[in-house]
Amino acid sequence: MRVDAQLFTGGTILTIDPNHRVVAGDVACVDGLIVHVGGPYTPQTRDYQIVDCAGCLVMPGLVQAHVHTCQTLARGRADDMELLDWLRTVIWPYEAKLDEPAMTASVELACAELLLGGTTAILDMGTVHHTDAVFAAAERAGLRATIGKAMMDEPDPQIPPGLRESTSASLDASAQLIARWHGAANGRLRYAYAPRFVLSCTEDLLREVGVQARAKGVRIHTHASENTGEVALVRQRFGKDNIVVLDELGLLGDHCCIAHCIHLSSEEKRLLAARGAHVCHCPSSNLKLASGIASIPELIAAGVAVALGADGAPCNNNLDGFLELRLAALLHKHRSGPRTLPAPEVVRMATLGGAAALGLADRIGSLELGKRGDVIAVDLSPLHTVPTESPWSAIAYAAKACDVRHVAVDGNLVVRDRTLLTLELPKVRENARKSASRLFS
Ligand SMILES: [Zn+2]
Repeated sequence: MRVDAQLFTGGTILTIDPNHRVVAGDVACVDGLIVHVGGPYTPQTRDYQIVDCAGCLVMPGLVQAHVHTCQTLARGRADDMELLDWLRTVIWPYEAKLDEPAMTASVELACAELLLGGTTAILDMGTVHHTDAVFAAAERAGLRATIGKAMMDEPDPQIPPGLRESTSASLDASAQLIARWHGAANGRLRYAYAPRFVLSCTEDLLREVGVQARAKGVRIHTHASENTGEVALVRQRFGKDNIVVLDELGLLGDHCCIAHCIHLSSEEKRLLAARGAHVCHCPSSNLKLASGIASIPELIAAGVAVALGADGAPCNNNLDGFLELRLAALLHKHRSGPRTLPAPEVVRMATLGGAAALGLADRIGSLELGKRGDVIAVDLSPLHTVPTESPWSAIAYAAKACDVRHVAVDGNLVVRDRTLLTLELPKVRENARKSASRLFS
């Protein structure tokens, strides 16, 4: 049997195409490419893997544009804290202790949770070291991932010695990772420069990242304006606001995805829109760390492209794209009215918005001919989605990650009937538990 041809049969297809078409029928993929969407499809040969999607909504996989798969072992270890405390007392010491086996355990756990929950692509920030292990685990799991090593060359005594690096070491390591992984696994794995945030980086490093990212056609992934304490420290060090600093150092552009962007001046909002930068909204993380609520309706009105992300297990504590989607749809209605972020807009944000933030809107984020086969089937038989009046409403407000029945990435079926085909879950669970207790003992 050919395994490079798949037929997802008999579902209701949420295409996320420019016309927001919802059609009944089949989705066919050959060699990873979508060759048919909607209506019955009769294969020319018998070599197709047939995936029964009757009773399911078939849609593009969710894309999360801000995740830390390296932090998954710290789930539940840093609750009820604010950002800078959370980073300095738990997360940075944890990341400094991560060795290669623990990194592998953390990323495999994250990839398994993400894929089983219908997330097919992520923009991931690793830590300073062991980024090869992050790529290798994502490759094995079958996830589409744009990954960067966290860059932290600022000589800040609060950063543990295990995470401190020189400017040249940070840039050299990034260059080597680009050579090894950017475009690997048939383009499924890509690199993004990941200066952690301006406070963890020297100006020299940030300026050089701006130059090299443009020269190499590689994206930039960073955090900004998450917390008022962070914003005050940035003003103290630079005499300017975060987004202005990123712009003046040459990092801001449509190749740049910035997580959070909660505490922004109107000048910063205007700059984000003018430069075409992408903002990744992480509502659970922002609420749990009491960071604040980003002005997403205002950013969208100003013309800023917005995506969604779960951030990391220790600040969420799930990596559940459906949960973020629902929370984003609900959170802004309180302030801006019930029509704010209606279901189709937020579902589009969770799929095509994420694809755009990864620079992959021409390849993924919708089910259209010629795009890559990143396809999920969401079961509509669980009682909490019955009856299904509108598929948009079902996905935005009612469906849960555990309703995801099948998942394909680049045409490869990685979840079938809620079973992950690429990793062994008992091993993933055992390695995660053992590594976490070793690191935190
Ligand atoms: Zn983050």
